[in-house]
Amino acid sequence: MSALLTIHDVHSFYGKIEALKGISLEVRQGEIVALLGSNGAGKSTTLKTISGLVSPGGGDIRLEGNSLVGKSPHQIVEAGVVHVPEGRRIFAGLTVRENLELGGFTQRKDRAFIAEGIERAFTLFPRLRERSGQLGGTLSGGEQQMLAICRGLMARPKLLMLDEPSMGLAPIIVQEIMQIIKEINQQGTTVLLIEQNAKAALRLAHRGYVLETGRIVMENTAEVLRSDESIVKAYLGA
Ligand code: ATP
Repeated sequence: MSALLTIHDVHSFYGKIEALKGISLEVRQGEIVALLGSNGAGKSTTLKTISGLVSPGGGDIRLEGNSLVGKSPHQIVEAGVVHVPEGRRIFAGLTVRENLELGGFTQRKDRAFIAEGIERAFTLFPRLRERSGQLGGTLSGGEQQMLAICRGLMARPKLLMLDEPSMGLAPIIVQEIMQIIKEINQQGTTVLLIEQNAKAALRLAHRGYVLETGRIVMENTAEVLRSDESIVKAYLGA
């Protein structure tokens, strides 16, 4: 499998705080890669740096060989990277359909592109079709998360980055969301996934990286990471 995203020795700062201390990782075409680690390890900062919300103080980030460093968040979406942030920031006062339309508009303005994206979202998650005229803010937490993911997909990303999609959701809903992420991946979208719920993430992912205080301390196949009790105990909060 060829590399879709390559990150080399990336350092990121908040003022004087060095949140990423030289991160290198790779996401290959077609993979689901899990980014694991405890609170404050730098997982969200990694995604924010890839999507251009935080500018790296050093290092390189490449999508299919082209550098993303110095590009605006909008240009990075255009290049094919979509970031669904923590806390599912959908528009509470807009309907489900309007939320999806906005996701498509950032990329292209023609009706066919948007209609096709909406149809795909409704097929992936039929509950959104039933609720298409309902205001985003009235959906359940799980439905809002699905809407946030589907809105991200409207831009047809090559790489979909999800920050804690299971946060605050009941176990049965988490399972449903994980299943849908798997389906999205099987339909051809590469996924970089942050999860506190390491077990759930490693059931889904092909490979994983473990971050600790701004450094990658471990990388392996999901199978190895989830089957090694000492790793699970030391890094994955089980
Ligand atoms: P969490 O799961 O809690 O979000 P995380 O692994 O995603 O953890 P980050 O949010 O990337 O961790 O944070 C990495 C480090 O950077 C932490 O020490 C955090 O306190 C710090 N940090 C994050 N955002 C900011 C900010 N806006 N200003 C200053 N420091 C920040």
